Amino acid sequence: MKTIRLDKYLTDCGCGTRSEMKRAVRQGLVTVNDIPAADSSMKLTPGTDIVKFQGRTLHHSQFQYIMFHKPAGCVTAVTDQIHKTVMDYLPSDLHKNMAPAGRLNLDTEGLLLITDDGALVHRLLSPAHHVTKTYIARVNGPVTDHEIKLFFSGLDIGEEKTTRPALLKIFHSASEESEVSVTVTEGKFHQIKRMFQAVGLSVLYLKRISMGSLTLDESLPPGAYRMLTEEEIKKLK
Ligand code: URA
Repeated sequence: MKTIRLDKYLTDCGCGTRSEMKRAVRQGLVTVNDIPAADSSMKLTPGTDIVKFQGRTLHHSQFQYIMFHKPAGCVTAVTDQIHKTVMDYLPSDLHKNMAPAGRLNLDTEGLLLITDDGALVHRLLSPAHHVTKTYIARVNGPVTDHEIKLFFSGLDIGEEKTTRPALLKIFHSASEESEVSVTVTEGKFHQIKRMFQAVGLSVLYLKRISMGSLTLDESLPPGAYRMLTEEEIKKLK
């Protein structure tokens, strides 16, 4: 059976960076099969050896799943010549084979899943699966029942087909600015901005708050990340 180093096991489980984990082992915070680990380079077998960090049993996954709160001003890419990328917000220990599942525009904030589980990314992004995505938007004018109906009946955003039914909810509507949420089941290029354009409005602010079963953890400030919980991973699959 495949073995891995203890420090890698711990970083895979999102406990911290390699150097933090080396320190944690030295401080006696890690046990393997209930014996304090003596050396962070020790080899162990995932699924057989029981690893605890600060008394909490860890579950090692073949893949890593990161919830990232994308701030405005960073590019949803792995490399970029001009802007910071989402990967610049993660320690280098968490870069290998990792890529964001889908894109948010440079100025869009919110939920991004970053993972090395290619099959899951494929499923989440596949047009056949109609995964729901919900956004909070501020737009430059009033939003009424009329727009709710238009969003639901499908809009011409310059593509072959009109958009699939989208759910528009109004939180606040005023002549100069409104706040709404929009739930779509597609991921067309600049879809939300183009849908508002189609009804004569411009998006002033956009934030994704959910994707499929995954909801942005509001305790994560923009630019912060955390590993998905086992429960979140199970629900996504
Ligand atoms: N729709 C947009 O217009 N922009 C995004 O970033 C995401 C969805």
